[in-house]
Amino acid sequence: MSKKILIIGSGIAGISSSLKLKSYGFNSTIVDKGNFIGGRISTKEIKFGAKPSFFFHGAQFFTAKTQKFKNIIHVGIKNNYIIEFGNFDPKRYRGNKTMREFLLNLSKELHFQQNVKITKIVPIDNKINVLDDKKKEWISYDGVISTPPAPQNYKLLNEFPSLQETLKTGSYHTCIAIMFTFDQIPVNEKTHYDFYKKPGILSWMAAGSNHRVWTAHTNEEFSDSNYYKDKDFLKEIIMSSIKKIFFRSKINFHSLHIWKYAKVKNKCLGPQIDAKYPVAIAGDFMEGQNVEAAFTSGEKAADLIFDRFQSQ
Ligand SMILES: Cc1cc2nc3c(=O)[nH]c(=O)nc-3n(C[C@H](O)[C@H](O)[C@H](O)COP(=O)(O)OP(=O)(O)OC[C@H]3O[C@@H](n4cnc5c(N)ncnc54)[C@H](O)[C@@H]3O)c2cc1C
Repeated sequence: MSKKILIIGSGIAGISSSLKLKSYGFNSTIVDKGNFIGGRISTKEIKFGAKPSFFFHGAQFFTAKTQKFKNIIHVGIKNNYIIEFGNFDPKRYRGNKTMREFLLNLSKELHFQQNVKITKIVPIDNKINVLDDKKKEWISYDGVISTPPAPQNYKLLNEFPSLQETLKTGSYHTCIAIMFTFDQIPVNEKTHYDFYKKPGILSWMAAGSNHRVWTAHTNEEFSDSNYYKDKDFLKEIIMSSIKKIFFRSKINFHSLHIWKYAKVKNKCLGPQIDAKYPVAIAGDFMEGQNVEAAFTSGEKAADLIFDRFQSQ
């Protein structure tokens, strides 16, 4: 039994859905509105001379609680595209050269189309059609898994009120990420600074692919109440906090990125698959606020789709 499934979103949830469907022999295509795969596991390139360096401005590391995700990490370490990050208990991991590299390796045999923004999912007879913002129709899918963050996902699912009820219950914190560089790497510089529960506006700051390129994140309290403000204002206030820490070094602002839906505040409660049609939702919003949770929710959505066809 082979089925044709469309997956919306090439973040870790979309990728784990597609991998799990593949293990069942189902074909899937992943579409995403962005230029690159990865969603919030994101990197930004900068060149010093000819050599590229990478900011890690979204997820900073991932952890593994389940055996399944531990196995994925084990394979990545063995093949040199995942490395342990710092010296933490429980252990933390990163992509070796970039965070996205981890996903690129995981998804080598999957089918992607980037720069496709979906606007609507519509059931027609026994099939599902999907519409994009260029009015192209993606027709005759046996099933769909939709993985954008809950508020964006909600907008696609007008024809599926029970899934919208589920998505309504979720919410996110915002995060402001600021990327900066060092002219000269300070001697004995740490790889990261954790400001958890410390006074100030920062939550975390860490080097990217090398010690010249850094990203700082503002904490939930500051981000949620300031993200909509003027970007120059935000830049000034955040850079001045960072400069207090690196007062001995010359640092240069690179760019600012606002993650409106950064980490899950409240998880979604309710069904993950429509009662009538093989349309399922997946993403961190179903399981928790991290990479592994999003991975797990993608696998669960794929299982729900598979089970639906098994029971027919
Ligand atoms: C700043 C920041 C720091 C974080 N730090 C950590 C950390 O250190 N450790 C950790 O484990 N987790 C961290 N997280 C959380 C982690 O990144 C997420 O939980 C996880 O990546 C979510 O994956 P996802 O696949 O559910 O969603 P996403 O990665 O958001 O993927 C959804 C995809 O859907 C696409 N999309 C949206 N709308 C449409 C549409 N209409 N049509 C087509 N495509 C669409 C988006 O472009 C996106 O690629 C962090 C997140 C942020 C933002």
